[in-house]
Amino acid sequence: MTQIEEMQEEIQGTPLVPIDKIVSLSKRRGFVYPNSEIYGGVAGFYDFGPLGVELRNNIRRFWWWSMVQMHDNVVGIEGANITHPRVWEASGHVENFVDILVDCKKCKRRFRIDHLDPKNVEQNKCPACGGEFTEPRRFNLLMETYLGVVEGDRMKTYLRGEACQNIYLDYDNVVKSSRVQIPFGICQIGKAFRNEVTPGNFLFRQREFEQWDLQFFVHPSEMDKWFDYWKEYRFKWYQTIINHKDRLRFHEHGKDELAHYAKKAYDIEYRTILGWQEWEGIHWRQDWDLSRHSQYSGQDLSYTDLNTKERYIPWIVETSGGVDRTFLNLLLDAYEEQPDPMGKGNDRTVLHLHPWLAPVKCAVLPLQKNKEELVGVAKDIHKNLQRFMVTQYDDIQNIGRRYRRQDEIGTPYCVTIDFQTLDDQTVTLRERDSMEQIRIPISELTMYLLDRVTWK
Ligand code: ATP
Repeated sequence: MTQIEEMQEEIQGTPLVPIDKIVSLSKRRGFVYPNSEIYGGVAGFYDFGPLGVELRNNIRRFWWWSMVQMHDNVVGIEGANITHPRVWEASGHVENFVDILVDCKKCKRRFRIDHLDPKNVEQNKCPACGGEFTEPRRFNLLMETYLGVVEGDRMKTYLRGEACQNIYLDYDNVVKSSRVQIPFGICQIGKAFRNEVTPGNFLFRQREFEQWDLQFFVHPSEMDKWFDYWKEYRFKWYQTIINHKDRLRFHEHGKDELAHYAKKAYDIEYRTILGWQEWEGIHWRQDWDLSRHSQYSGQDLSYTDLNTKERYIPWIVETSGGVDRTFLNLLLDAYEEQPDPMGKGNDRTVLHLHPWLAPVKCAVLPLQKNKEELVGVAKDIHKNLQRFMVTQYDDIQNIGRRYRRQDEIGTPYCVTIDFQTLDDQTVTLRERDSMEQIRIPISELTMYLLDRVTWK
């Protein structure tokens, strides 16, 4: 980020959040833990804790709902993490899935050449210390694994380097087993594995991560139309779930970035402390994937139009993004430290997560934990709400502290049961962002909350 951009950001009062704050909150409150931490950890792998898994599930479900459930012409699959090794020859990964990297001879830092400023490459100068680089080296990112038990008979294959290959492999089965007709799409959410040479920045670049893909199959004459449709649709999807709409943009790939079969490609980028970075790619894949798999497998993957009897290899629009990058970007987008306006030390940290995605939807808080009448009503309310949404019951410490705890994990609503509740069967409902409190009858509570925490 330039100095001017930094200043503008500060003037607008929304400074970019350092990754460290998110790493620390994630561990403290049970969103994300370093993998194998008691053994010293392993770079590029993370585990998700009790709140992380809820947030992750909500992110996945919202994507599936909007991409599959809400589109009559889209269906889903779930493929295995391991496939026949020929898949990765056909896809070009065995040959071309490489990163070229250089090390700095002086400070020993390692860089991917495509992530360096071209000026540094040209001048052979490390951006961190000015030292010289080593000769560039090529590394294949595919993770190898072996099938079988008898030494010598074992077959070498790969953990999938990108999830979408299963969609091309299952394409013909989907056409034959469901009533889909072109134009139609196949979606999948699944793990991908890459021997990233420079894993880092928390969840941003991992070695095991999760991708979501849509492969949309079209007649070549309709490629432009569907490319535009999905490009706009995906952009709006991201806009809906973030607070800082101005931090989202398209990056159109230049001629030198485009694959040889692609007429155009766009990244949806989001701006964080790491700068503008890819969140999802919208790719024009033409007939590349199905043609290659036809050629390598010997199976004809062409499609016959039922009306015109035309036979052709469908063209593909791909939208490919990451669950983990969404998780990280949403936390960076939502995190805010608000100083106490009265200066009395009541600062609060808030996660302004969209209520649809927040891991806990509602906290139920009896005003005092030693008053049986209050506790009884509170437990009943909690039991009832729990059937519809993730709810937490909390009676530890004073009410202010409990609100702060919920703010920090992004809980959009808190329900407080107090003495008035016993008289008139109403509760206090507090909203996270505005901190506004209203009184609402217990009988209306479930519908009121469902209306706000369920996507539509
Ligand atoms: P990059 O250029 O950042 O390495 P890419 O162009 O190789 O990414 P794709 O292969 O298009 O990425 O993957 C689709 C999506 O998967 C990306 O937009 C990103 O959200 C996610 N993704 C890719 N690599 C990683 C990774 N190592 N860790 C976490 N998410 C990733």
